[in-house]
Amino acid sequence: MVQPIPILLYHSIARSCAADYRRWLVLPEEFERQLQVLLEDSYDCLTISELVGLLDSGKDVPPRTAAITFDDGLADFAEGAVPILRRHNFSATLYVVSGLVGSTSRWLAGLGEGNRPMLGWQELRDVAAAGIEIGAHTVSHPEVDVLSAAEAQREIRNSKATLEDKLGLEIRSFAYPHGYSSKTVRKMVAEAGFSSACSVRHALASASENRFALSRIIMTSDIGTTGFREILAGRSLPISPPIDSAKIAGWRAVRKLRRLTRTGERLN
Ligand SMILES: [Zn+2]
Repeated sequence: MVQPIPILLYHSIARSCAADYRRWLVLPEEFERQLQVLLEDSYDCLTISELVGLLDSGKDVPPRTAAITFDDGLADFAEGAVPILRRHNFSATLYVVSGLVGSTSRWLAGLGEGNRPMLGWQELRDVAAAGIEIGAHTVSHPEVDVLSAAEAQREIRNSKATLEDKLGLEIRSFAYPHGYSSKTVRKMVAEAGFSSACSVRHALASASENRFALSRIIMTSDIGTTGFREILAGRSLPISPPIDSAKIAGWRAVRKLRRLTRTGERLN
């Protein structure tokens, strides 16, 4: 069997949220329980750039290698997640929406969470100083694969440039908002100077997986300890499934059409 590499995806570690956002929120005690399992089962949690560095070195990936990632850069990362990560001595990678730093999660308005506070620049510097890798997650959180080429380039390149400028760090990894990418978008991300990018895909990654479409699993509060161990072992999920299935392309066409109807723009 191919060795599975679980890359866990969290968004918000907090106590309350709008009902429609519930799926993306993990309660602090549940997050703590999940990290406790990683610790008890001797998992080594790398940042995404550490993981990709290891994969590219050609060395064998030790069993029980995993990664913890967070998308968006919500303010509760600092208060809700960092103390628990530190207590368990785990690092993580945080993908930040660069155009909304210090503002609110406007793109979540449809889920009743458009006013969730985002981390500010100083908090991001503190988070980076605590050993968390910062990655880019576009400027404004669009579905990048249905944008025009010029817009997609702007979202990808400007998010890297702004984060690097404001944080004084090299930003090496990218995460696709909503997990959506296409061959063109993945090429743009590589050409922008990133060395990896994370998708969603509800699957485990593996050493042979495309570095610009790393599979992640969305973590929820209702997984439970047994379910969490099943996920880590790769018993309940696929490992590195194909990237561009006909189903994915069909769904992209639907989303493109929706966007076209919404904006009346001509897409290229
Ligand atoms: Zn996101």
